[in-house]
Amino acid sequence: MSNLRFHAIKNINQHVDVNPDLGNKVSDYYGQNVFTEDAMRQHLPGDVFKSVKNAINSGSKLDRGIADAVSNGMKAWAMSKGVTHYTHWFQPLTGTTAEKHDAFFKPTSTGKGIEAFDGDALIQQEPDASSFPNGGIRSTFEARGYTAWDPSSPAFIMEVNNGKTLCIPTIFVSYSGEALDYKAPLLKSLHLLETAALPVVNYFDKACTKVHATLGWEQEYFLIDEELFLARPDLMMTGRTVFGHAPAKGQQLEDHYFGTIPERAFGYMMDFEKECFKLGIPLKTRHNEVAPAQFEVAPVFEEVNIAVDHNQLLMDIMERVARRHRLKVLLHEKPFAGVNGSGKHNNWSMGTDTGSNLLSPGKTPKTNLQFLTFFVNTIKAVHDHADLVRASIASASNDHRLGANEAPPAIISVFAGTYLSEVLKEIETRVSDKNKPNDADKVLLKMDIHNKIPDLLMDNTDRNRTSPFAFTGNKFEFRAVGSSANCSNAMTVLNTIVANQLMQFHKDVEAIAEKGERKDGAILTVLRKYISASKNILFEGDNYSDEWKKEAKKRGLNNITTTPLALDGYVNKSSMKLFVENGIFNETELHARHEIMLEDYFKKVQIEARVMEDLALNQILPTAFEYQSKLIANAAGLKDLGLSKFAGTQTELIKEISERITKIKTDCAKMNDERKKANALTDMKKRAVAYCDKVKPYFDTIRYEVDKLEEIVDDQLWPLPKYREMLFVR
Ligand code: ADP
Ligand code: MG
Repeated sequence: MSNLRFHAIKNINQHVDVNPDLGNKVSDYYGQNVFTEDAMRQHLPGDVFKSVKNAINSGSKLDRGIADAVSNGMKAWAMSKGVTHYTHWFQPLTGTTAEKHDAFFKPTSTGKGIEAFDGDALIQQEPDASSFPNGGIRSTFEARGYTAWDPSSPAFIMEVNNGKTLCIPTIFVSYSGEALDYKAPLLKSLHLLETAALPVVNYFDKACTKVHATLGWEQEYFLIDEELFLARPDLMMTGRTVFGHAPAKGQQLEDHYFGTIPERAFGYMMDFEKECFKLGIPLKTRHNEVAPAQFEVAPVFEEVNIAVDHNQLLMDIMERVARRHRLKVLLHEKPFAGVNGSGKHNNWSMGTDTGSNLLSPGKTPKTNLQFLTFFVNTIKAVHDHADLVRASIASASNDHRLGANEAPPAIISVFAGTYLSEVLKEIETRVSDKNKPNDADKVLLKMDIHNKIPDLLMDNTDRNRTSPFAFTGNKFEFRAVGSSANCSNAMTVLNTIVANQLMQFHKDVEAIAEKGERKDGAILTVLRKYISASKNILFEGDNYSDEWKKEAKKRGLNNITTTPLALDGYVNKSSMKLFVENGIFNETELHARHEIMLEDYFKKVQIEARVMEDLALNQILPTAFEYQSKLIANAAGLKDLGLSKFAGTQTELIKEISERITKIKTDCAKMNDERKKANALTDMKKRAVAYCDKVKPYFDTIRYEVDKLEEIVDDQLWPLPKYREMLFVR
């Protein structure tokens, strides 16, 4: 076995970099594999093109009568690019994307064939829902499921080697209409937010007719040599290393962050970026991250639905392209203990069809009141639904990262920045019931907001990197999202709570305005009320500190550190009400989803426990025995020569190895017992909790002993690639 490790290291030196052909400039091939508006105009009859555009813009259903014309145009476009197959591309709750390819080709009775793709095949398909996570919806209803075309995200061509497939973004629902994917609820939440935000925007901007939510994600990842990866069964099976002693050099010198990108990684980046550009993913930034072998890629922000699809595509492409470079990309939140984990910051805002960003401070008192309205309502929404926000980022893998001293804690708080915090305080104190702000302009002018905000917010130093939810100048940055997550969960929750809040805001303002107060004044009065009600979620200090934990407790903010409990946030009374009343999920869907997420949790921990036990018993202990035998032979030899007194170190090591072996063996057995007990629990929540509280603690105790063995056992015998090799060999 140890051969594999050394074999891999030897091969790295012989590795030849693959340099992708980048062509002249990105704009030459950007979006060439997307059925863009231009491609549509070219391949669809004029009236059909107009209907499709209308359907996209208004979010309405496409007229079934023109489906054949659309599918024909799509086929013509795809075939002109060498496409042979098509697939509905969807995002089931497995976390990855799903596809089932069908050929355009259809044999005919003459022994020849034709290429066909009709409207029915474009609009709807029927994969077996029972093969995807459905949280029991299957047992109560029929097992059939449907994928249905989402025209708001453009079709695209996925190239894998020489094969080209037309991918049609779809939602995935059960026979009885329950959502079985991430996209269906996301689209509903986006529609809800658009509807809720518009009347509020119209207070300030009468010309606005459409609001859309925007997302710019930042994807962090690790990159390691593929052969080293293949010699680590834990990485292969779980995405993270369950053992591994910290290297002498970790990230303490902080020399990796923003450092020069290693050549091999650079070649890889250019290669996957090119594939992304062809698919119209507007990548913009690449850099080294804090940990060794850790990097980040980020695009220019887009409408949320498209941004989510693009992130899913990116993750898929990154994994595929890595193979060409004999590299492995690790999207897990915490592949290596002791160095930083990976997140996926979700930068979120709302934009209007009149061109303004609703979270961007303006230049006049009026636009600043608009800004403050959306700013304060978002804070209030997060305050009122903090447990749900926490639930939206919960997963077995993210548990390793949240609160792990280099990632946002599990306590949800909002960072507003020093200046804006002061502004909020001003409003809270100056606007009082007695001092009615009949002239809001005056109040705002007095506070000098419109002069100060733009300048101050441009100042990037006013940033708090430790906050899970930070305002960063013209958007909120939800930093607690995990690197491997589909952004949809976080986005669906954020859209829904803010939409719900904006509806409430509109009601509250109207109620005051009805009594004859000016709109501006009514708005400030309501904002003041919200600021008072939600200020305890604002935190400017160090979120990683122990003081914050204490302070948060005093403030009554929850600190839910494990997924099985955090997931309650989806099904508590207020979340149920929120989702059901707003038509995002019905009760069946919510319970199903809760069940699926609990199941996913326990299965992931179960796999880790199994891998750990396998590795410990089949690789670590035999290696320890082998080294111990060498020591014993050595000590015996010394004794034969009458030199026993020189065998002290050997004897100590022999003893230490025995003790550690015993501890590993007993803890593996105990962990196994706990697993059996947990498996016997039929209630999914109880089972997940048991895996969390009873099984998982052994991960630490077993790992401790194994890592100590790694320190003392002969390096030549150690079978698993070491941290220093995975993180520093380039
Ligand atoms: P960092 O947080 O690493 O300093 P930036 O502030 O440059 O990075 O931007 C991070 C991401 O935020 C980018 O994807 C960017 O496009 C996105 N972003 C900028 N403005 C908005 C917006 N109005 N809505 C959503 N995302 C935005
Ligand atoms: Mg950021």
